[in-house]
Amino acid sequence: MAFGIDLGTTNSCIAYVDDAGRPVVVRNALGEYTTPSAVYFEGRDSVLVGAAARNAALLAPDLAVQLVKRHMGRKDVEYTFHGRRYTPESISALVLRELAAATERRLGRPVRDVVITVPASFGVAERQATRQAGEIAGLNVLDVLAEPVAAALSGQERHPARGVRHLLVYDLGGGTFDTTVIRMDGDDAHVVCTDGDRRLGGADWDARIRTFLLETFAEQHPRLDPGADERFVQDLWIKAEQLKEELSSSLTRHKNLRFAGKAVRAELTRQRLEELTADLLDRTMKITEETAERARAQGVTAFDEVVLVGGMTRMPAVAARLERLLGTTPRHHEPDLAVARGAALFALVRQAQQGDAEDVADRLGISRAQAESMRSRRVTTVVPRGFGVKVLDHNDPLAHTDPLRARAYVVHLLPAGTVLPADTGPVAFATAMDNQPGIDVEVWEQNGRESSEEVADNTLAGRGRLRDLPPRLPRGTPIHITFHMGETGLLTVHAVEPASARQVRFDLQIGGLDRADVERARTAVARHDIGS
Ligand code: AMP
Repeated sequence: MAFGIDLGTTNSCIAYVDDAGRPVVVRNALGEYTTPSAVYFEGRDSVLVGAAARNAALLAPDLAVQLVKRHMGRKDVEYTFHGRRYTPESISALVLRELAAATERRLGRPVRDVVITVPASFGVAERQATRQAGEIAGLNVLDVLAEPVAAALSGQERHPARGVRHLLVYDLGGGTFDTTVIRMDGDDAHVVCTDGDRRLGGADWDARIRTFLLETFAEQHPRLDPGADERFVQDLWIKAEQLKEELSSSLTRHKNLRFAGKAVRAELTRQRLEELTADLLDRTMKITEETAERARAQGVTAFDEVVLVGGMTRMPAVAARLERLLGTTPRHHEPDLAVARGAALFALVRQAQQGDAEDVADRLGISRAQAESMRSRRVTTVVPRGFGVKVLDHNDPLAHTDPLRARAYVVHLLPAGTVLPADTGPVAFATAMDNQPGIDVEVWEQNGRESSEEVADNTLAGRGRLRDLPPRLPRGTPIHITFHMGETGLLTVHAVEPASARQVRFDLQIGGLDRADVERARTAVARHDIGS
């Protein structure tokens, strides 16, 4: 049995496909469908994961990690608890391990083969880090899948494939926002374009409400300063989030705030909440509009469906604004579970592709033809951000004498939006100086949405060196560079000097850990007792 895991910024969720072919979300130890992606380090070898961790964080925030997904793939982020060091990957692994363990207890079956979802905007480094988080947790990661594609697949289950359809997926979760246009052609899913803001999500709405609550308290007790009290502030976070969620189904709610023996009744209406956060929603709509515009430039004139994903889309204002913007009534179907369900369906597809159709048909109680169609289902992904190499500007005279000071720029060999797997074939570059002994091949990834050749608008993703070039090569000697990127985003770079066939080939574990690190982390994570 294979599982789909939505490893979210604030909440995570796990699902599998039952014998009738329906994706089923598995409840955690507390009987809930989603588990907070929070880890609390109780002791050297014991951690709490989920709601218990979130609650414990109120009393000792220094011993807890939340929103770790925002740091996935970053080598410069590390946490230390009780003298042990943790990477974002190993923190995520602890969440994954708890999800798997709770599922094993509930279903009485081992959890091993999984598909884990990632935001469509995740670059290669973050995808690789996510895959490794799964490995550190002791799981066999069949694939990582873009969240909007998973959401689209989960909808497909209810709307059987019929011709070409275009979907716009609007995903507003606890910590991130993404919007993606997907083309479904029969059983194939293809990302047309995607954009988002990785630092915009429910937590920003909570922060506005928290400020409102603090101000309401201060109006009545101007001389008290509850904002300096850690417990009061942490409690305010919970109340703010509760208010926000309650106002999705009520028009007005209140909370009692208590501090230093004083109590204040703070009332908030849905309308006031929408005013306090209007600019946040506007930001998501602007990005959605631009994404729809880019899709239009690629020939997508209308959306057959607008799919809502993420807990925040339960706010009525989201669907209302989207309908005005796009003229399509959004589909609302348990937005916080859709991604895990789609991932479970995709995990089955991946398994079917590895096994034989007869066996899959048998196991699922579906016809052989259905199983065959599942095997042929393809999910195409695109390069989220452009990848290229840094080259020297030949028009700068310094390039031939003092290359370190010459102008350099980035040539994107794989522009954003290239469908994976992609192979550039050999692209011709040239040596900058006479007698060059070798060449540094630096791979750079575009930072923002806009493609730019300026080095400052790109990030170094990795490098290799083509060594031992034959002596006395004149400047301008051709060097061919080929980029190959697989569907899971693993980049293979090949550089060759064709005349001598001197070459270098390297795979980029961009941002990820090396094998030994993964093994070490796996042992370290396995040592922890995990409670929930
Ligand atoms: P997700 O990351 O998809 O699990 O979404 C989590 C975010 O959705 C958190 O910020 C929650 O506060 C928010 N959320 C969950 N339920 C609701 C609701 N009914 N109304 C508004 N926001 C909600």
